[in-house]
Amino acid sequence: MTGTFLETPIEYLKGVGPARADILKKELQIFTFGELLSLFPFRYIDRSKIFRIAEVNDDAAYVQVRGRIKDIQAIGSLRAKRLVATLADDSGEMELVWFQGVKWIADKLKPGTEYIVFGKPSWFNGHLTIAHPDLELPNEQVSSVSDTFRPLYSSTEKLKSRGLDSKGISRLMKTLIQSDRFHIPENLSPEILGNLKLMNRQEAFIHIHFPASHEMLQKSQARLKFEELFYIQLRLLIQKFQRTQKQSGHPFSVVGNYLNDFYHHYLSFELTNAQKRVIKEIRGDLGSGKQMNRLLQGDVGSGKTLVALMTMLIALDNNFQACLMAPTEILANQHYQNISKMVSGLHICIELLTGSTKPAKRKEIASGLNDGSLQILIGTHALIEENVRFRNLGFVVIDEQHRFGVAQRARLWEKNAVTPHVLVMTATPIPRTLAMTLYGDLDTSIIDEMPPGRKPVITKHIYESKQEQVFDFIRKQIDKGTQVYIVFPLIQESETLDLKNLLEGYESLKRIFPGPKYAIGMVHGKMKQKEKDEAMERFLKKETQILVSTTVIEVGVDIPNASLMVIENAERFGLSQLHQLRGRVGRGADQSYCILISGYKLTTEAKKRIETIVETNDGFIIAETDLRLRGPGDMEGTQQSGILNLKIADIIRDEKVLKYARNLATDIIRDDPNLEKETNAVLVRHLKIMNKYRENWGLIS
Ligand code: ADP
Ligand code: MG
Repeated sequence: MTGTFLETPIEYLKGVGPARADILKKELQIFTFGELLSLFPFRYIDRSKIFRIAEVNDDAAYVQVRGRIKDIQAIGSLRAKRLVATLADDSGEMELVWFQGVKWIADKLKPGTEYIVFGKPSWFNGHLTIAHPDLELPNEQVSSVSDTFRPLYSSTEKLKSRGLDSKGISRLMKTLIQSDRFHIPENLSPEILGNLKLMNRQEAFIHIHFPASHEMLQKSQARLKFEELFYIQLRLLIQKFQRTQKQSGHPFSVVGNYLNDFYHHYLSFELTNAQKRVIKEIRGDLGSGKQMNRLLQGDVGSGKTLVALMTMLIALDNNFQACLMAPTEILANQHYQNISKMVSGLHICIELLTGSTKPAKRKEIASGLNDGSLQILIGTHALIEENVRFRNLGFVVIDEQHRFGVAQRARLWEKNAVTPHVLVMTATPIPRTLAMTLYGDLDTSIIDEMPPGRKPVITKHIYESKQEQVFDFIRKQIDKGTQVYIVFPLIQESETLDLKNLLEGYESLKRIFPGPKYAIGMVHGKMKQKEKDEAMERFLKKETQILVSTTVIEVGVDIPNASLMVIENAERFGLSQLHQLRGRVGRGADQSYCILISGYKLTTEAKKRIETIVETNDGFIIAETDLRLRGPGDMEGTQQSGILNLKIADIIRDEKVLKYARNLATDIIRDDPNLEKETNAVLVRHLKIMNKYRENWGLIS
């Protein structure tokens, strides 16, 4: 056997034959001793605590009770057979039930005997029941301190069928830890351990699997969480450092006529302080000689696009081209219209490139890009097609609205000899902890201030039985000359059903708001691009007063005259979607409203989502709540990131640890960017091990 203890292949472990090894690899991607040891318990049962039966309810995840078996009954025919026993203590009774191994259990169970019973209570056939409980005689209990906290490991049916239930896994851990070769090298420097008073790594691995006490358990968890988050941050910061080191950027040294002219003659309002601050941050990057890679966060309507435009003008002032990529054609189109209008006096050559651009136009664009006469190109993903070549692209804006996580696209431009500066705009504020992990290698700017004079949207929740009130309100808004969005949900599982739902809604709205007084338009995902654009166009031109749609309008569309957003089946939308939808109104001078319509039956989560939207307009609070409700795994963009593979830390619960880890990693990289100091050698060693695993992973997947 070669290699270190941790790298030893799992089949060498006593108790793991080829079959178990195979299943561990397939089910849990565990190939080595180290990987097995990094399978941490998801919970611990305090086995010193014994509940009285009367205290037990089905809320508790696991309980331990002590009582006597009263009677035992085999129920049902051969196939549906089960064994039911009644367990009683002086406070009450409950049932124990077995569906498997019935005969064996029946022989073993002794009526009248006292047992310590452990398991997960639930309601079954009207009785509080523990199915397949663990049974022990009182004198077998708690043979050593390390048994006080019993670890629970998540397992799978296949693992269980091979005897690798939680207990079985725990037995393997014991074998590992008791092995003569057991050795876990430290991966943090003595300075870090000392300063943070962290438990050493080997001890932490022992106590995470076999805690000697509550205190030791906490210490081991603290140590391992820190280690996990610290290395993620260290890696991100190293990437960032290397990127800025290796990739020099175009130095935009001058601010010239385009920006000055625009600022002094065409900008009809004062920038907000937040916009000024962000522009300063961006200019700092542009002048640094390094490539900018910046994430710009700000709520819908906070003026991000304006900041992006001003940055484009700086690029033009320095004789570079700029482009803006939007997630949909509607949005690209809108950016094109708006930006063209804003700079119409400056004689800038701007074009739009999307999937529906005609070949002749494409040719014209290609030649303008090539000879440099085309200065700003706006479009969709069509911009990153192989045949789109700029003469001297200096600045790229990516508008991804709520679709964060796609910042990876920024890397597409890294193919260029000198990488252009990149600004990623996102309208869904990203909780700081998530941003730190998802976008840890980008710089971040935040616009946290709305342009003056904006009236916050008033939001109300209404049950569907009171739809009539909503119709009255819609009428009033239209009579005032403003426009209304009515959004129907889109469920992925059944697009046909959604469409039916939407079409029915559309038809009944047409009856409630008949022509010619009212005109209703419709947009949904199944329509051709051209039809969608036409419907949007008619709404924009006020030819229709009501726009019925699915969430396709969620992204960025800007129609200032719309003052009311009605969301049907609001309980079916996610928090960030609701926030985005609401952001479609409140863009003009009129007081705007958002009405959430729902059924009476709401899940706790749906209720919380609706309450949150009604209570606040603050995108950051909404984003935090969203993260708390859904967990990072369900947030968009997290799939590609490593945070789903976190083994022990939790970016919500361990926010403080994360910040600490981030700060420490920042200090270390600032002080010793190439990790050359003796005290950092231990970090380099561990990073190398991590990278080795990464490569292996690459080969497997
Ligand atoms: P975002 O891209 O963040 O959604 P935009 O840049 O599209 O926001 O701005 C929304 C609207 O507000 C636009 O009509 C824009 O012209 C206007 N706007 C931007 N900044 C200001 C400001 N400082 N004062 C007044 N209006 C502004
Ligand atoms: Mg916008």
